Amino acid sequence: MTESVGIWNELVRLAVEGYNAGSLGIAAAIADQDGAIMAKGRNQLSDSLDSCNKIKMTSIAHAEMNALNNLPPERQHDRSLTLFTTVEPCPMCLGAVAMSSIRKIVIGSADPYAGSIRLLAKDDYLTKKGISAVFVGGRAEEICYALHYLSLRRYVRPNHVIFDQVRSRYPAYTKKLDELIDSQQLTLDGPIEALQLMKLLD
Ligand SMILES: [Zn+2]
Repeated sequence: MTESVGIWNELVRLAVEGYNAGSLGIAAAIADQDGAIMAKGRNQLSDSLDSCNKIKMTSIAHAEMNALNNLPPERQHDRSLTLFTTVEPCPMCLGAVAMSSIRKIVIGSADPYAGSIRLLAKDDYLTKKGISAVFVGGRAEEICYALHYLSLRRYVRPNHVIFDQVRSRYPAYTKKLDELIDSQQLTLDGPIEALQLMKLLD
């Protein structure tokens, strides 16, 4: 996993950029077997900042869609590539991966609301594609979840069903984040900084 540390650092940086710009703090990258990033993307549902994305300000401006869209033509048929994403892909993004040559997904944190990895075992078409999905766990999981949760706290109405689902999936992480927000060590109003967030989660 050592070669992927650089990938997670880049994804956290990119997710923070998205969060601070007004979109969701979610990022994705496509890497080769040596861990070199071939393409990246971030959620850009709600901001027009000049970033790595071509898809902006539309309902399909998800991190994985942008990463797939940025994959160079000479890599389009490469079956050795891995998609890294900070949050479990939704059905649209999982479908887009299935239409690509990518057959391995590494996921930072689960999304019990919109995540669709279970479909890989439930849908015949997707099962035939032979896509493997791994949840990374550990520290990367906590940071990726924190960025997702802060995005939800900032942009989603508080009584939305997603909060019950993420709280029951990640009770300890959520409790820690709620305490940091309540004690104003983390603010939902201003920008966040990646290093400061990592320090708070230590
Ligand atoms: Zn998606």
